[in-house]
Order: sequence, then C-alpha cells, then structure tokens
Amino acid sequence: MDSPGKKMLESAQALIRKTAEKMKLDEEMVKRVVEPEFAHEFSLTINMDDGKKKVFRGWRIQHNCALGPYKGGIRFHPDTVREEVQALATLMSIKCAVAGLPYGGGKGGIAVDPKKLSKMELERLSRAFAARIAHVIGEDIDVPAPDVNTTPEIMSWMIDEYQKIKGYKSPATFTGKPVSMGGSLGRTEATGRGGLFVLQALLAKLNQKSKDSNDKFTVAVQGFGNVGYFFAKLAHEAGFKVVAVSDSKGGVYDKNGLDPVAVMDYKRKKGVVSGYGGKKVTNEELLILPVDVLVPAALENVIHEKNASKVKAKIILEMANGPLTEEAYENLSKKGVVIVPDVLANSGGVTVSYLEWVQGKAGYFWSEEEVNDKLKVMITRAFEAIWEKSLARKMPLKQAAFEVAIGRITAAMV
Ligand code: GLU
Repeated sequence: MDSPGKKMLESAQALIRKTAEKMKLDEEMVKRVVEPEFAHEFSLTINMDDGKKKVFRGWRIQHNCALGPYKGGIRFHPDTVREEVQALATLMSIKCAVAGLPYGGGKGGIAVDPKKLSKMELERLSRAFAARIAHVIGEDIDVPAPDVNTTPEIMSWMIDEYQKIKGYKSPATFTGKPVSMGGSLGRTEATGRGGLFVLQALLAKLNQKSKDSNDKFTVAVQGFGNVGYFFAKLAHEAGFKVVAVSDSKGGVYDKNGLDPVAVMDYKRKKGVVSGYGGKKVTNEELLILPVDVLVPAALENVIHEKNASKVKAKIILEMANGPLTEEAYENLSKKGVVIVPDVLANSGGVTVSYLEWVQGKAGYFWSEEEVNDKLKVMITRAFEAIWEKSLARKMPLKQAAFEVAIGRITAAMV
C-alpha cells in the first residue's frame, strides 16, 4: 500500500502533467515543473531531557524558484515522510503563483510527534533543524514559515539560531515570527481570514441563498488549530452560522450555532472541544453533516473515495493542504459540489507571510488594519483570476488554479 504522502505526491504531479498536456508544454518543461530543484534530507540528533541522544529525520525540499525565493512552511508530524514534504513543496509553488506572489515553492518537515517532547527538547530540535538548513536558506533564497504543529515561538528559535550562525540580523529569512521579533500583525489569523475572504467572494459570484431558516449559511469546520479556529471565529463574526467544529479528538455539533470563542475557552480548560455542549460528533461524522459549507482545516486525505458520496455540503473550502483525495475530488466535482482548492483557499497565510517579508526587508511596519486590507485586495484578486479562468475554460476551480499557476511559472522560465 502506498503511504498517504506518496499518494499525495503522485496526485500533485499527475495534476501538473495533466494541466501541462492541456497547455501543450514540451516534455522538458514539464520535467522542470514537476521535479524539485533541490531536496535536502538529513538526520538531526538532539539531547533529550533524560540525557540520552535521539535521532530524527528532517527535510527541506526546494521545488521551484522561477518566480522568486522558495517559500513554505515547516511541519512537525509523526507521519511526515519525504514524499509528503515534496508534494507540499510542489503545491507551494502552485499556491504562491496562484496568490500572485514573487515566490517559488518549498517545504520542510521533521518526522516527530511534538506532543511527546518537552519544551526544551522542542527548542533543541527546532534549533538543530535551523542549523542544518542555514546554509541553503536566506531572505532571497528560501524563506521558511510555520505549518502543522509549528508556531511563532518555534520560528523565533529558528531565526535566532540562523542569525547566530550567520552573524547578522536577517528578519526576512523566516516569516510567521512573533510580532516582537519582526513578525507581521495579522499573520496569526491570516490563513483563516483569507479563507473567509475567498468564501465571501465565491458566494457573491454564486449569488446563492442559504437554506438555513435564519438565512445564514451553515458551516462545519474540521480542525481547531490556528487555521480552523480563526476561520470559525471570523466566519461567526461575519454572520455565518458555525454549527460544528472539531479537534483531533472529536467534535461538537449544534444546529443552532456555536460561538467558536466560547468553544476555545472550553478547549483551553479541558484540552478538547468535545463535551462543550450540543451533540458530540466524531471527525468522520462532522464531514457528512447537513451544512452549506464544509471546511476541512486539519490534515490531508480526510475526504476520500469511501466517504465522499456521503458529503452533503454544496461548497467545500479546502483550508488544510490536500484534504480531498483525487478520487473524492472527481466524485464531488461531478456531483456539482463547488470545491475551492487549497492553493487558493488557504493562501492567506503565505500572502501575509509575503507582507511580513516586505515589512522585514523595508524595516517599516503596517498596522493590522493595513495588513488585513492588503490581504483582502490580494486574495480577492487571486480568486477573480481563477474564477474567470474556470468560467472561460469550463473547468473546476482546481484545474483553473493549476493552469493559471503553471502559466505564470513557465512564463518566468527561460
Ligand atoms: N504553511 C503555510 C502554507 O502551507 C504558510 C506558508 C508560508 O507562510 O510560507 O501555506
């Protein structure tokens, strides 16, 4: 059986090949867009608190830099494998091009369960990772950022280590840093906020009326981390009815609507959202609830050939990277479900990373309102281009996004 990471890589590459064929790109150009330019794989040895040494596997894969420095997060996850990091690096090239950013794509990762490390161990591992990649990154070379299980604090350790090695301050080499270290206001909420802007732009195009009796769109959000929580919170504030949320341990469903801030207060106290009130649901059940909008905002491959036919939502906003398998995508698209692809829906994070990078390079910082306004302009513009392409070429948004991205990437190659 292929690992999920391998499957993810195969489907990202297959999609690029399919798009390239339609665009009649020659075979050598296709190779340049499919294969990563650099793939760094290494081991990291750190001292554990009990005095023993432990070895971890890590990667930084630099996929394509036609449009600018490699850009992308670093994830810490026990299931992380090279193929997954490569797939995510490939998708970052597409995402940055879709978002209209002057960046290529890259991704990093460590195969580790960070929940099993003490804070000191986590810091040592993060610093070891930064030291390993220090010679291949830089503000105009490759700019890492947070991803699954990595935080502004982890970025602060990494940039500190990087600066020690280099011997100079380089605030634009990492994004997603704490504001106190040159991070951007609004970066923490940016992925969720961007997703909401995309959803609002889509609903305006579809001119759709909600089926909910209060005339509010009902939304179910899987994942209550940085992405899922802020999406749910901002959607609730914008007048959507968030009826279900979940974390890795399970979820809650209340058809009358939930207040994500109150659910987060509960999670802070109890460690989980399940039990907050309403009805308990599993992560599987959340995906098939009768809602207008389904927002998978946790991990990849959660909607697959076995559960896709049970999904009732008419709109799916991919806030996680790769939450639908290729089979699920095909089945649901055929049924007329509008699926907003990850490379567009969750591009708010990297867009504000770009704004952080610009601010860091210039040494001039914007207010949160200015950052949010710029995000809205940029992500809505990105959505419009994909929407227009999808109408003109009568293709689903994901295919349109890949066409736009590959067009932009190859146009920047000689
Ligand atoms: N990890 C995020 C993503 O997958 C953000 C990347 C970044 O800010 O560079 O888009």
